[in-house]
Amino acid sequence: MANPCGDGTPDGDWQRYLNFRCTGCGNCCRRTHVLVTDEDLRRIERGVGLPVADFVHFVPEADLKLEKRSAWWVRFDSGRGAMALRHRPGGACMFLDEEQRCTIYEHRPVTCREHPFEVELSDTGALNFIALSDIVECPHDWDGNISRRDVIKTSRWNEKQSDVFLDDVGRWNRRRKGRKTRPGFLRYLGFDV
Ligand code: SF4
Ligand code: SF4
Repeated sequence: MANPCGDGTPDGDWQRYLNFRCTGCGNCCRRTHVLVTDEDLRRIERGVGLPVADFVHFVPEADLKLEKRSAWWVRFDSGRGAMALRHRPGGACMFLDEEQRCTIYEHRPVTCREHPFEVELSDTGALNFIALSDIVECPHDWDGNISRRDVIKTSRWNEKQSDVFLDDVGRWNRRRKGRKTRPGFLRYLGFDV
């Protein structure tokens, strides 16, 4: 895998990324669509006390760089969409405050917890490789101390909840009967909308 960081770090030196420290600039909460699972939505709904319809959004194909064959696409009668957190006008995640802080930190999506790492685990669950996402400019520092255990735990959590959600998306997409609407999909996932 090529080094996506562009900082001159050799690929073999990936353990250096355990010294990553987020400087809290908020770029990754402002310039991205955060794709979420139903487990993320339930955690946020419970933790924040907002109905899911107030913070979920389905990003249309025209607004998202995601492979055409990606399992994250949900089919609707009016076109496909990927389930994400809503943005405020201007493009930032609706949960980012003026100080560039996450207002739902305890309940945030698992993908926000894993960012900016792209993690590869071995068959035995050991940490094989870490790369840094280059999805946005990330003015990080190098005086952090991230534990392998935490990286592995978050990566496994993300994989497990994504697998369950994407199985549900696959079943929904294959359904032939009935209308396919966004509220209908949320009800199919068990939400009261
Ligand atoms: S939920 Fe929090 S961490 Fe995730 S994008 Fe929104 S503000 Fe950022
Ligand atoms: S872009 Fe990088 S430094 Fe900025 S908030 Fe995100 S992870 Fe932290």
